[in-house]
Parts: sequence; structure tokens; C-alpha cells
Amino acid sequence: MQTYLVTGGTGFIGSNFILKARREDWATVINLDKLTYASHPQTLASLSDDAGYQFVQGDIGDPNLVRTLLNQYQPDAILNFAAESHVDRSILSPQDFIQTNVVGTFHLLEASRVYWEQLAVERKAQFRFLHVSTDEVYGSLNPTDPAFREDTPYAPNSPYAASKAGSDHLVRAYHHTYGLPTLTTHCSNNYGPRQFPEKLIPLIILNALDGKPLPIYGDGQNVRDWLYVSDHCDAIERVLRHSLVGETYNIGGRNELTNLAVVEQICSILDDLAPKPNFNHSSLITFIQDRPGHDRRYAIDCSKIQRDLGWQPAESFESGLLKTVQWYLANARWIEQVRSGAYQSWITQNYCDR
Ligand code: NAD
Repeated sequence: MQTYLVTGGTGFIGSNFILKARREDWATVINLDKLTYASHPQTLASLSDDAGYQFVQGDIGDPNLVRTLLNQYQPDAILNFAAESHVDRSILSPQDFIQTNVVGTFHLLEASRVYWEQLAVERKAQFRFLHVSTDEVYGSLNPTDPAFREDTPYAPNSPYAASKAGSDHLVRAYHHTYGLPTLTTHCSNNYGPRQFPEKLIPLIILNALDGKPLPIYGDGQNVRDWLYVSDHCDAIERVLRHSLVGETYNIGGRNELTNLAVVEQICSILDDLAPKPNFNHSSLITFIQDRPGHDRRYAIDCSKIQRDLGWQPAESFESGLLKTVQWYLANARWIEQVRSGAYQSWITQNYCDR
């Protein structure tokens, strides 16, 4: 059984990855997470008695803590999910993004290098540092441009994308300069259960249920590719286990949709699952002033991971979206806690006061 140090494992994608690893029992996991506003420790409450899971509250940018954890747990791999991840917040407050995504990743890489260099030959060869990145580092596409490939030049436009690009370059440099066995993945927009309701899909579901306006930036014609979160986790597992070191992989769902089309599909599902008399949820759609510097289109060419590693998404957008809406309808308590602030006091009680 391998041991992984997972960073940011209490967030949306990291928690799904940890639950999968423990459910399928192929790795013991140490989860290093700072518990920012975006984290969901209750998602992992089912692991509280699991001897194969350990939570540590802390910052990837704390070199002493990271060094101590590496020496104590001797992981076979580090998976870096930790990040500030919301584009709108990066526009309002870019500093946190530079601090965690660039400086934090640097400290994590440096501690990993020192740890990796002193491993015995066989373990050194097997060790991996997997960095989870985004398609946003490639910038914006015109409608007829080909989809992003792994060799598409970087052109990040938002502070979030620029900070992720900076961390990707550091990961690449640590492989090129020191030989650290790194892997980098670039995924499109994820969706699924337990996503913090500042991101488009949960925001729209919850506002629609409350009868609040459904805000859509600009003309609603910005295009994104969408991938169900469990498919992303499968892809990460496959890259970790089977990829050659130093590789990068694009991961996407081949689901290019305008934001307006996504919102309309959510409304149509809610019209069926949560009908209100003489009312269509789409009547709540409200176009708002566009986000500054809003990228028009992202599209992912994921033929490399399909060809090299045999990965395919299992979930269609229709089935994944239906499951997602059903999850939010069935988990009113989770939603209430996230929105009420009781959630943050739960974090304080359960993690900070002990
Ligand atoms: P998230 O915002 O839901 O979770 C991020 C987690 O990182 C949180 O638990 C937070 O507490 C933790 N964290 C933040 N700063 C930290 C620090 N300094 N030290 C330790 N932990 C810290 O993010 P997510 O949506 O789960 O995304 C995970 C990763 O995947 C990110 O690197 C993101 O850039 C990337 N990604 C996300 C998407 C998406 O659609 N959500 C798509 C492609 C790539």
C-alpha cells in the first residue's frame, strides 16, 4: 500500500480524490489543508475512524511543517491540489493567489526535492510529485481555434490563471533542473457534489431553489468544457500510476457549452425535479456586467491521455449534471451549513480548538 501526501484535500476535488483512494483502499493518505473558506471538512467526516487517513491543518507554504510531515510519514507521492481557485476572488484579491499558488507551491517543491534526494535508490525512482493545474493557463480561444493541447503556449489572463501558470513553470523547472519526478495535469471546469456555491453550477442550483436571480456574465456566450469530478479523479490516479515522469496531460470532458446553455440545462432539470406551479426556473436568468478580462472560450484536446493511458470520462454531461442537482436537492443541511456561517464555526470547533 502506498502513502500519499495530498495537499488541499479538504476542497472540492481533493476530497473526492481522497474518498476514492480510501474507498478503493489503494493508498493511505495524509491530507495537509489550511482550511480556507473553500474547504469542506465534513466531506471527510466518514474517514474520522479510518486508520489509513490522517488530517493535518497547515499551509503548503510552511517549509518546516512540510519537512516534518515528509520525514514523519515518508510518502511515496505528493499530490498538490492546494490552491486559491476562484477567478472572481483573484480579481478582487490577487495577493492570496500569488502567496499560495506560487510561493506555497515553491516551498512544497523545495521540501519535496530535499526529501526525494535522500530516499534510497528504489524509492527515489518510484516517487512522484503530481501537480494539479488548470486549462486556464492557456488563455482564451476564438470560436474556430483548435482546442488546447499540451504544447499550446501559455497565455494566462486572470490573476488566478497567471498564478497557476507560475506554479506549473516551477514544477517544470524542478523536473528539468533537479530531476524531481513531476507530473502535471491541466483539467477543464469540474462539477459535481460538494462544490462550494461560489462556482457556476452550484451557485445556479442554489439560487434557483431559493427563487433568486441566476446571474450570468455578459451575453452568456462564454464557452467552457465541463468534466464530472469523479472522472477527473480517475484521470489523476491513472497519470500518477502509469505516466512517465516529467509528462503533462490535458484532461477534459469534450463538453463544450456556453454558460447560458449550462444554466438552461440546470433550470430544465429543476423544472422536473423541483417544479413550482406556473413557473419556469429559466425566468430567473439575469445577465450581469461581464467579468473584467473574461476569457471567451476554453476547449481541451484530451487525446494524449486517451491514447497514452486509456482514460475516458465515464459520465456524460447530462448524467453528471442530473446527479449533481440530485445531490444538492438531497443535502439541504450541507448547503445550510455552508451558507450560514455555522460551517466556519464547525471548522473552528472541530479543527482549530483541539
Ligand atoms: P477548492 O478551492 O475547492 O479547494 C482548495 C483547497 O485547498 C481548500 O481545501 C483549501 O483550504 C486548500 N488550501 C488553500 N490554500 C492552501 C494552502 N496555502 N495550504 C494548504 N491548503 C490550502 O479547489 P478545487 O476546485 O478542489 O481545486 C483543486 C485544484 O484543482 C486547484 O489546484 C485548482 O487550481 C485545480 N483545478 C480546479 C478546477 C475546478 O473546476 N474546480 C479545474 C481545473 C483545475
